[in-house]
Amino acid sequence: MNKECIICRKPLDNGILIYGRRICENCERRLLTIETSTDFYEFYKNCIKKNIVQLIPRGVSDKCQDYR
Ligand SMILES: [Zn+2]
Repeated sequence: MNKECIICRKPLDNGILIYGRRICENCERRLLTIETSTDFYEFYKNCIKKNIVQLIPRGVSDKCQDYR
């Protein structure tokens, strides 16, 4: 249903899945080679975080039991 890259928003047929979200091969390749200190990396990270954060259940870490 969500058939576009979460980063560049291009429609895509292939690419990798991260937590059920798609990233196109282009962006994947860039992610793998990117310098972690660049703004670009932050941008990617934020895109991924925004897109997958709601899929990660709360209280997943062992000391986090404050379910709300
Ligand atoms: Zn992309």
